[in-house]
Amino acid sequence: MLCPNCNQPMNLLTADGQTFLHCSNCGSSFFEKNSINKISLETAKKIAEDRLTDEVFGQEKHCPKDGEILKPITDQPQVVSSEITLLRCQKCAGIFAFSEDLVNFKEQQQAKLSYFKAFKKAISFRTIFVLSVLGIISATLVTQGNNFLNYLSSRSQASSIVKKADFYRSGRLLLIFFRTETPFFSKIIFSDKTTGQKLIKMVSETPKTFHQLTTSDLNLDNEIWYQIVLTDNSGKEVKTEVKKIIINNE
Ligand SMILES: [Zn+2]
Ligand SMILES: [Zn+2]
Repeated sequence: MLCPNCNQPMNLLTADGQTFLHCSNCGSSFFEKNSINKISLETAKKIAEDRLTDEVFGQEKHCPKDGEILKPITDQPQVVSSEITLLRCQKCAGIFAFSEDLVNFKEQQQAKLSYFKAFKKAISFRTIFVLSVLGIISATLVTQGNNFLNYLSSRSQASSIVKKADFYRSGRLLLIFFRTETPFFSKIIFSDKTTGQKLIKMVSETPKTFHQLTTSDLNLDNEIWYQIVLTDNSGKEVKTEVKKIIINNE
């Protein structure tokens, strides 16, 4: 079978009890439905090294098994953050990953797993870690009605709405988790005190009570401050106080 990226023959590899296709030319891999969830970070790192080039060809990519078009997974931001590109076959639900994306994806899964083990958060394992093969999951917009507005007007500061924000580090990745009592859109403004740079990251693009973000865009050796911005359905915005990031696992 030929590589969807560079058109070279792919090898059949076995690791972690999974059999998958790997291209030793461009380093990309193709996993059958669900299989990518069972590959370890160690395996991802090992196969990422097995490549000759980093070439990414711009053409449309097709499933090595059935020729169906491969499309980026964008419907599961909790599982695949926006920085990672994984392509899914519309027919067999197989997943194609470039080596770097595969390593980043497994690093994030690992970091989230450590987080939940350490803090025993009551979040469904499935919703966070497992790539659904059900296809598009429609986002439910939660409308809150009048109670919600009353609630907001009685609280001027988001600090009282956001329960404790947890920061967790894995290598160069920073994971952020926080809850709100009611569903909000959310974003975070980061401020690097060492370089003076500001960075705004979207967290929840649909109203949620459990918010999570993974980012590799910050230099975690610098002093970073943050402010959470919550927006309700009517567009009203509230902000938390600006606070210094304190990483839980250090
Ligand atoms: Zn290739
Ligand atoms: Zn396919």
